[in-house]
Amino acid sequence: MAQHQFQTEVSKLLHLIIHSLYSNREIFLRELVSNASDALDKLKYLTVADEAYKSISFEPRIDISFHKDADNRPGASTIIVSDNGIGMNEKDLEESLGTIARSGTRVFLEKLSEEAKKDSNLIGQFGVGFYSAFMVADRIEVISRKAAENSVWKWTSDGKEGYDIEALDAEDPAGRESQGTTVILYLSEEGTEYANRWSIEDIIKRYSNHVAFPIYLSYEENEYDDKGKVKSSTQKTDKINSGAALWRRSKSELKDEDYKEFYKQLGHDSDEPLHFVHTRAEGAQEYITLFYVPRKAPFDMYHADYKPGVKLYVKRIFITDDDKELMPTYLRFVRGIIDSEDLPLNVSREILQQNRILMNIKNASVKKLLSEFKTLSENNREKWEEFIVQYNRPLKEGLYQDYSNREALQELVRFKSTAVEGWTSFAEYVSRMKSDQKNIYYITGGDEKTLRASPLLEAYRAKEIEVLIMDDEIDDIVIPSLFSYRQPGKSEGPSFDLKAVNRTGADEELGEKKDKDAEKEAKPVIEKIKKALGDRVKDVKLSRRLHDSPSCIVADENDPSIQMAQMLKAMGQAEVPEIKPILEVNGDHPILQHLKNTEDEEEIADVAGVLLDQALLVEGLKLKDPADFVKKLNRLLAR
Ligand code: ADP
Repeated sequence: MAQHQFQTEVSKLLHLIIHSLYSNREIFLRELVSNASDALDKLKYLTVADEAYKSISFEPRIDISFHKDADNRPGASTIIVSDNGIGMNEKDLEESLGTIARSGTRVFLEKLSEEAKKDSNLIGQFGVGFYSAFMVADRIEVISRKAAENSVWKWTSDGKEGYDIEALDAEDPAGRESQGTTVILYLSEEGTEYANRWSIEDIIKRYSNHVAFPIYLSYEENEYDDKGKVKSSTQKTDKINSGAALWRRSKSELKDEDYKEFYKQLGHDSDEPLHFVHTRAEGAQEYITLFYVPRKAPFDMYHADYKPGVKLYVKRIFITDDDKELMPTYLRFVRGIIDSEDLPLNVSREILQQNRILMNIKNASVKKLLSEFKTLSENNREKWEEFIVQYNRPLKEGLYQDYSNREALQELVRFKSTAVEGWTSFAEYVSRMKSDQKNIYYITGGDEKTLRASPLLEAYRAKEIEVLIMDDEIDDIVIPSLFSYRQPGKSEGPSFDLKAVNRTGADEELGEKKDKDAEKEAKPVIEKIKKALGDRVKDVKLSRRLHDSPSCIVADENDPSIQMAQMLKAMGQAEVPEIKPILEVNGDHPILQHLKNTEDEEEIADVAGVLLDQALLVEGLKLKDPADFVKKLNRLLAR
């Protein structure tokens, strides 16, 4: 028997694993199964690619069995994981299980910050390999026979200083007849809890359900007599993984039903998905993605601590379902799977976030999803409306957050409009525009009903200029950040500024050239109102957008909107600057005509006050002093 010292890094890793992963011990089984699966992959490849291995009859499988000691003595209970894969000879055992040959692990060790070490959950997300088995075992034996070789080797270690390697006789009952590896874990006190059928099945289903080879679990099934004593017991073996990673099968062999079934299990949703996209990328990077859009938005979509919906697999092995970085936040409603061939299994979360491979997959996935949404919006209006009702808002967040995909996103978002029923897009708006119209007009701030009733729309309606009704709170933040709209792919084509009708600067196109005489004529009245209102307003102006109503308020083009200021205040923001409205008045209105001829200071003050307050009310805003408004109104009525 040859005794060996562990390479110092192995000792370090072992120490780290045992002391920081204890709350995630169960991953040991995932790691062993993943190694077994790799070993089967390797041999499978050789049997088709290499003459020397072609004669090997090979039915790849992974077998798990356990023995539970009745008295729970440490070291007396075992879990055994066995495969008939490529196997290891003496040299392989030394190199693979005595050193850290894998550069990934070394980087992992170096990068693991002190903080991450404390957070065992973080590390637990990612594989740390074979050594994790020492979290549950005091001693491990690995018995292995390499394919196309005759000797059988046994590696033994207590996971402390080093390990022994010995050759087993051909007759040794511990030996292996066929090629492959048997890993025997002599469970520690903490490990014995895993030596039962339910734990093992549960862990395999959770982490390794989609491993491509069958995983069998052997267990004893007891029959009891009426006194509760074991009458007889039979050895049973069940296949415990589903094996078919659906997303790895080709689209042509999958039916819609298969996708829908799979979704229900993946998304924990009894509804059918609204849409799904299955993609296989080959070439420089190999990966598969399968994404679903739930019919109803996830209940936690607007919670800051929403649960991400995309799971990361590496070669069918589950890595994490708790990484928000796998999708941009505005696509947080997407459910699905990313399965990469190129990522290392043992990669920490920090490394994952800076990982170029994953970044590329993510970027390509976003592009794919957005183009798929586009197709859906063009080909299936009904479905797209369902989509919009659920996800218009997150898409608008995307407009704000994801500059690189802005062009695609601006084609997806939808709005209500003064010109058509239901939803409409920027592109559709532009297609309805009059040939000389320069801007796209919209109104924000308030619910749909208030907005549709706003006096600000009068002149646009009279001129038959369409205005988009933006009744979602988020519009106030997102739409101004867009500035303009240009149809995609037409970098030379016309670009249209987006103008809020409740802003100064949106009335230039209303056509009525500023009538110098009208201005002059209205000047004295305007001065009267200005004087009466004092610092309640930023300015008083003669309006070009009013037809029937006597007054309206607008915001300065460069100020945030009044609605937004009220919203911020309601959200508890203390330092919201007071935004004063600009009052616009309709010079042709009888009230204004009347004001022209009155010099009664008290009456002027009441009329000016009511003109302002009613304009605020129509916009759905709250009056600072409603009692005062009512008083003024009553005084005027009494007159
Ligand atoms: P990883 O699997 O990430 O490389 P591990 O520490 O789990 O890291 O395993 C180290 C190496 O040991 C593997 O790369 C492989 O060469 C070898 N090995 C482990 N388990 C087996 C097995 N069941 N069959 C063949 N080789 C194995």
